[in-house]
Amino acid sequence: MSEASAGTRVAIVTGAARGIGAATALRLAQDGFAVAVLDLEEAAAKGTVEAIETAGGRALAVGADVSDSDQVQAAVERVAAELGGPTVLVNNAGITRDNMLFKMTETDWDLVMNVHLRGAFLMTRAAQKYMIDAKWGRIINLSSVSALGNRGQANYATAKAGLQGFTKTLAIELGKFGVTANAIAPGFIQTEMTKATAERMGIPFEDFIKGAASQIPVARVGQPEDIAHLVSFFVSEGAGFVSGQVVYAAGGPKA
Ligand code: NAP
Repeated sequence: MSEASAGTRVAIVTGAARGIGAATALRLAQDGFAVAVLDLEEAAAKGTVEAIETAGGRALAVGADVSDSDQVQAAVERVAAELGGPTVLVNNAGITRDNMLFKMTETDWDLVMNVHLRGAFLMTRAAQKYMIDAKWGRIINLSSVSALGNRGQANYATAKAGLQGFTKTLAIELGKFGVTANAIAPGFIQTEMTKATAERMGIPFEDFIKGAASQIPVARVGQPEDIAHLVSFFVSEGAGFVSGQVVYAAGGPKA
């Protein structure tokens, strides 16, 4: 066991008020981590914190916009002061601003780049020093099957592909400090994000889910817990030789 595993390890999960982030925060708490539940609004993160505490875990609600440098710095310092230095970071916060290229505004492009790419960069830069100090760390970035290309998502697909390059570079730079970095590229996961997509397309969510499931080899859509399980593997002690990888969790081999 490494030195850092002697005390309680601290994890930060961004965008953890709901969806994949909330399920991941709950799972990491079950795995024994003290979890900083970070989202845009501290109040919105409280539900996840309560669920963790009810299950006997330790958590802290933190409000911050991951694309804002000062807010990120303050948030990570607060986590270090109140829970301990974070050695696990899950860059999960995300948004979509879908449109066909010819209708996509510069604002929609910039917003998506800022939350996914700038957000993951700022959070990782702020958190890495605690991992280096502990000589142990785990970084997990949420990519997407959309990284392979998806109609109406030029901005999102670009950001999700960019996160894969970011992940591989982190793996190369931080490996010698006992820090691994991996990316998870989910397929269709049933969350508010996919619900909003269905609404935009004018399709009832139940029908949207059924349609998606009919194209997926395991014959169902994914649930947030499916992704949380994979995060749990990547942060585990035994996964220390797995780094710079992108795992497509999509219920089959194709997006
Ligand atoms: P979700 O239900 O929309 O949750 C995303 C969370 O991130 C929300 O709580 C949101 O807060 C928060 N957030 C947005 N912008 C933020 C910012 N600037 N700073 C801090 N928090 C912010 O999404 P999800 O479906 O769970 O997706 C989680 C991640 O998985 C995302 O990166 C997404 O791109 C990725 N992913 C999802 C799917 C899928 O099918 N669902 C597939 C592939 C990849 P607000 O509610 O206040 O906006």
